Amino acid sequence: MIFDIKMIQGVYEALPDKINRITQVLKRPLTLTEKILYTHLSKDEELKDYKRGEDYVNFAPDRVAMQDATAQMALLQLMNSGRKRVAVPSTVHCDHLIQAYKSAKEDLNTAEITNKEVYDFLTEVSNKFGIGFWKPGAGIIHQVVLENYAFPGGMMIGTDSHTPNAGGLGMIAIGVGGADAVDVMAGMPWELKMPRIIGVKLTGKLSGWASAKDVILKLAGILTVKGGTNAIIEYFGEGVHSLSATGKATICNMGAEVGATTSIFPYDEKSAEYLIATDRKEVADAIKAVRQYLQADTEVELSPEKYYDRVIEINLSELEPYINGPFTPDAANPISEFAKVSAEKGYPQKMEVGLIGSCTNSSYEDMTRAASIVKDAQEKGIKVKAQFIINPGSEQVRYTSERDGILDVFEKAGATIMANACGPCIGQWKRETDNPDRPNSIVTSFNRNFAKRNDGNPNTHAFVASPELVAALTIAGDLSFNPMTDPLLNDKGEKVMLKEPVGAELPNKGFGVDDLGYIEPVADGSHIEVNIAPDSQRLQVLHPFAAWDGKDITALPLLIKAKGKCTTDHISMAGPWLRFRGHLDNISDNMLIGAVNAFNDKTNSVKNPFTGEFEAVPQLAREFKSKGLGSVVVAEENYGEGSSREHAAMEPRFLNVKAIIVKSFARIHETNLKKQGMLALTFINKEDYDKVREDDKISILGLSDFRPGRNLTIELLHSDGEKDTFEVAHTYNHLQIEWFKAGSALNYMKN
Ligand code: SF4
Repeated sequence: MIFDIKMIQGVYEALPDKINRITQVLKRPLTLTEKILYTHLSKDEELKDYKRGEDYVNFAPDRVAMQDATAQMALLQLMNSGRKRVAVPSTVHCDHLIQAYKSAKEDLNTAEITNKEVYDFLTEVSNKFGIGFWKPGAGIIHQVVLENYAFPGGMMIGTDSHTPNAGGLGMIAIGVGGADAVDVMAGMPWELKMPRIIGVKLTGKLSGWASAKDVILKLAGILTVKGGTNAIIEYFGEGVHSLSATGKATICNMGAEVGATTSIFPYDEKSAEYLIATDRKEVADAIKAVRQYLQADTEVELSPEKYYDRVIEINLSELEPYINGPFTPDAANPISEFAKVSAEKGYPQKMEVGLIGSCTNSSYEDMTRAASIVKDAQEKGIKVKAQFIINPGSEQVRYTSERDGILDVFEKAGATIMANACGPCIGQWKRETDNPDRPNSIVTSFNRNFAKRNDGNPNTHAFVASPELVAALTIAGDLSFNPMTDPLLNDKGEKVMLKEPVGAELPNKGFGVDDLGYIEPVADGSHIEVNIAPDSQRLQVLHPFAAWDGKDITALPLLIKAKGKCTTDHISMAGPWLRFRGHLDNISDNMLIGAVNAFNDKTNSVKNPFTGEFEAVPQLAREFKSKGLGSVVVAEENYGEGSSREHAAMEPRFLNVKAIIVKSFARIHETNLKKQGMLALTFINKEDYDKVREDDKISILGLSDFRPGRNLTIELLHSDGEKDTFEVAHTYNHLQIEWFKAGSALNYMKN
């Protein structure tokens, strides 16, 4: 099946004219990143040379993808947008909520029972709004997108950090929060700070045990977890053409681990082969006329330092396999040094579980390369020593791997084939262990290895490596095993070496599948009723927030004056709260529970002005709300940094907080607050933060003349009768002021 071919052809038809205009205005050769970004400027956005790392720019992405955990709140908001159908092709993928425990079939059955109301809701809303729906078991969002939707030169956003996977097929694909997805699905522009561009030149060719995964594991060591922040990583050089499309996707996927906005590869023969193998020859055909626009200009490749903000070179011929970890993906260890590092640091030497899967490494090529190692071990009479778990990336990969005898190889080695889903990668793993307090080591082909991520156990040392290396270490059961130098004992007691991995980039007999697991939405979903049980604990209909009453805000109590860092995690924690992501009332019980109260240095302990007692922040906010009172939150610098999480803006709005007054905002969160109809204000004199006292009554004056560039006034009435008055700034433009007046951006759009 080929999806949205008309839209894709339209992008290519418009490409030559657009690129010519861009070149005329920018008057310089273009990187691939710039070609895609500038051809996706929102229609009202001026075409000019935007400053990288500084200017905020509105874009018009071609499509949206959502995974089942984040889709819930996004779709609940979309239901309030007044739209009948999404403005751009969009999809929902049921992959995060399936727990890996026994086997694919049993776990899928369990997930369908435990998550029934969420799945039913997602199915109905998708059908109503024209969104493609991928059922539980269809596969992991990014693998499914790569196989079906990613197209070179396109631009997409996805409500998941590893959306950049599609960069392997030449698409600018960026992970965002649900509110951004709603904007794009509702036909609004989507804002991004014009990213810096890091050029990574690949030379040489991979060989032996080195794999595409090792490129990004090495790069993670160079850039560290923050080195890619606000940057797009663009790969170039002759080395890129030796990598398969799925190998490139692996590299782009893990670009998220260095904080990159996204990563991208140019279009080449491998991309064409992958498009054709995945039934998209029409896309490959349409590209023939525009191929030169799907790579950086020649001048950029010749003088990369002139056009990229930073250039890094990696010689694939010299690359050795890496094992990164534990606890952070940028702890990069080439395998030749790992045994020494491991002994020095005292990592648990017994390798207890090997896991292959995740959106990072679950392609057909990954499966075949890992299986070649297992098969070689079987033929040499070597037993597998550790537990072995495989999660195929999609039903297409699973079906084809089964047909081609690959799953059989794993199963004969004692591996459990789990569902085509995220599973252990996102902590959805019911791991059975004899003693959770014992430090232990596992090796995965996933992308993240933070403490507790896979099995919730802080004693688990998780390392990430290529699937072939995971297979080798699982066979050896020894964390320090180096298959390039170390022999293993076979069942006759002989020392034997494992052969180097071999695999197939694409299946010789082509991909096969019985049922992709896709449900096409009906052409007109306007008649569809979306049912949410009123007593549901996981889903709740969103009621539009009330419009502004036209008056100044007067004499509000302070909810909390937060001290120090206040990220979106402090404002709306993840972890156990994930299950309430579709229920605003329930999840609001985590509002600001991580923020430190400046008056007592405690978290989640604020003074109730009516009783003088200290209580939880959400509890006090609910009391204010029940009395018909709003409240105010005061905080310090960079309030709301971290993941773009709309819950962090929706929860205060829901619990009747009227304004957040801070020394500075993280820009994305500031915009999210504006979208929800909140007042996001900043101290002009940062010392005014110190004037706010615990028992103050706070008024916000000047709203009747709320306009861009005009400050508002804060009046603090202290409990001793004294007053402090000062001005605060805001960054609302005309449109955003309309959002405030309407009660939210969605209300405004609907009106
Ligand atoms: S496999 Fe892991 S990294 Fe990929 S989407 Fe699922 S949870 Fe995220």
